Amino acid sequence: MTDAGRPEVTAYVGLGANLGDAAHALRSALHALDHTTGVRLCKASSLYRTAPLDASGPNYLNAVAEVATTLTAPALLSVLQSLENEAGRERPYRNAPRTLDLDLLLYGSARIDSARLIVPHPRMNERAFVLVPLSEIAPGQVQCDMLTRVQTQVIERLDTT
Ligand code: ATP
Ligand code: CA
Ligand code: CA
Repeated sequence: MTDAGRPEVTAYVGLGANLGDAAHALRSALHALDHTTGVRLCKASSLYRTAPLDASGPNYLNAVAEVATTLTAPALLSVLQSLENEAGRERPYRNAPRTLDLDLLLYGSARIDSARLIVPHPRMNERAFVLVPLSEIAPGQVQCDMLTRVQTQVIERLDTT
């Protein structure tokens, strides 16, 4: 759903979960995003299974979504954080297992460096679980050498969507 007024901006959201029913959490988040005023879901990648990076715990499911939004970047981050909270997200320590993580990867061509929001996401280029699904839905956003740099990270595309 989008509202009139502001022009739409294309943004990319990284989704991840490794606690509970992770596939359900990712699908529910995509559905909720599409039903948020000012956000329209344009594309969703396949689901990918990945091993935790710089962390322990169960394997992750990850995906990337392309949205068109009339929200500002901070307002979109607030939407993402509300959805994380509704999914029971807890932060007992850095990189802890999580029921749902929603990162704002890109917001148009914006570069943002504020206390609560940095865009492009500062660690996205180090992560196969971001770059591989992003390249599936937006190949123009990911250069080959970026994928080469993360090719040692194990990532498996699942058949289900
Ligand atoms: P990482 O950021 O390395 O992926 P994480 O997702 O586990 O780690 P969180 O605990 O979810 O980290 O978020 C920590 C803080 O990061 C949030 O409170 C948020 O304000 C901030 N943040 C900064 N830039 C972004 C962004 N682009 N997307 C999401 N959160 C961001
Ligand atoms: Ca994250
Ligand atoms: Ca996050």
